[in-house]
Amino acid sequence: MQRDLFEEEHLLFRNTVREFLAREVVPHHAQWEKDGIVPRDVWKKAGELGLFALSVPEQYGGSGIRDFRYNAVLDEEIIRVGASGLGFSLHNDVVAPYLLDLTNDEQKERWLPGFVSGELITAIAMTEPGAGSDLQGIRTTAIRDGDHYVLNGQKTFITNGINADLVIVVAKTDPSAGARGITLLVVERGMEGFTRGRNLEKIGLHAQDTAELFFDNVRVPVANRLGPEEGQGFIQLMQNLPQERLSIAVAAVAASERVLEMTIEYCRNRKAFGRSIGSFQNTRFVLAELATEVEIARHYVDKCIRALNAGELTAVDAAKAKWWTTDLQNKVIDRCLQLHGGYGYMLEYPVAKAWLDGRVQSIYGGTNEIMKEIIGRSFGF
Ligand SMILES: Cc1cc2nc3c(=O)[nH]c(=O)nc-3n(C[C@H](O)[C@H](O)[C@H](O)COP(=O)(O)OP(=O)(O)OC[C@H]3O[C@@H](n4cnc5c(N)ncnc54)[C@H](O)[C@@H]3O)c2cc1C
Repeated sequence: MQRDLFEEEHLLFRNTVREFLAREVVPHHAQWEKDGIVPRDVWKKAGELGLFALSVPEQYGGSGIRDFRYNAVLDEEIIRVGASGLGFSLHNDVVAPYLLDLTNDEQKERWLPGFVSGELITAIAMTEPGAGSDLQGIRTTAIRDGDHYVLNGQKTFITNGINADLVIVVAKTDPSAGARGITLLVVERGMEGFTRGRNLEKIGLHAQDTAELFFDNVRVPVANRLGPEEGQGFIQLMQNLPQERLSIAVAAVAASERVLEMTIEYCRNRKAFGRSIGSFQNTRFVLAELATEVEIARHYVDKCIRALNAGELTAVDAAKAKWWTTDLQNKVIDRCLQLHGGYGYMLEYPVAKAWLDGRVQSIYGGTNEIMKEIIGRSFGF
């Protein structure tokens, strides 16, 4: 079925992104996988092209168009070339709304121009060694001392953790107040007492820096708090998590489509018993089932994108999109890998890398079990 989500301007943007990736990313990505990180320089090049300007008002160097379809185009194109090291979706899809909607004019002035130019790389730090799904169980504290908060604690698994210049840190400003005692603070590179741990070794996403962060009596100015009051952090997170989950779903569908496409091609050319493996009924049935499910997923996710643009995407809609598409992605890639036979197990075949890179999708952004909890709770049992 024809996809009718995009207008002419999105297609032009898609061409710009494609050219950028072909020129600045694809030739270097294998090396970045060995390095375990993407150089900061590529962020600046992306910034120069306006790839981080999407939703930022013009007065701060942005293009002033809040339309998630552009975000989706960028995410899809990055997936299409397997550039899993670029943490751009974290910057554009996840962090941007916090810096746009929860900041005052002075903060916007300080952070948004660098956000757009790619000079200020961002991250968001919720997860701790002892608390992931159970966000209210975090132990990082930020205790007010005059014009500052004194921040102590540790975060882990933070995407862009090594490269990040601005980190939105989830901390307890009132440890006795439960969800109402949580506040978001922006910690900046170079603040005394803020250090980074290891660039963690992962089974996939090898070019993406995922790190531990440590805060030892970091004095964070009150001027770096997101929102006019303390204790709003939990609500702020709940408001923004649907967009993060939609971003993951967009990537899931794009990854499924890519792998399906390459597998159909593989099955056309690979011979066994004197015929193409695509001529076996099992191969055709597997591919037929996957193609059907991926197309259904595509239409649901496109509908979610429209809903987000209209300000109508609910937490339940986004949870449905996230769990279903990422489970589907894992299934599609696993079955497609099987159809590649032994070659599917070889890292030189993109399906093998897609399998390793994709596994995390059902885990981060809230595990798929937590997504089902969100949906299940909506029944009001
Ligand atoms: C590559 C990568 C990048 C990441 N990037 C970031 C980032 O940028 N910022 C950030 O803050 N975090 C990030 N994370 C962390 C990620 O969001 C967490 O790993 C995730 O939320 C799960 O938390 P956990 O690892 O503590 O698992 P746990 O919460 O310990 O869960 C373990 C298992 O128990 C299940 N479980 C837990 N509670 C329930 C329940 N109530 N009902 C049913 N089952 C349950 C879970 O579903 C899971 O299967 C990243 C993780 C990875 C791997």
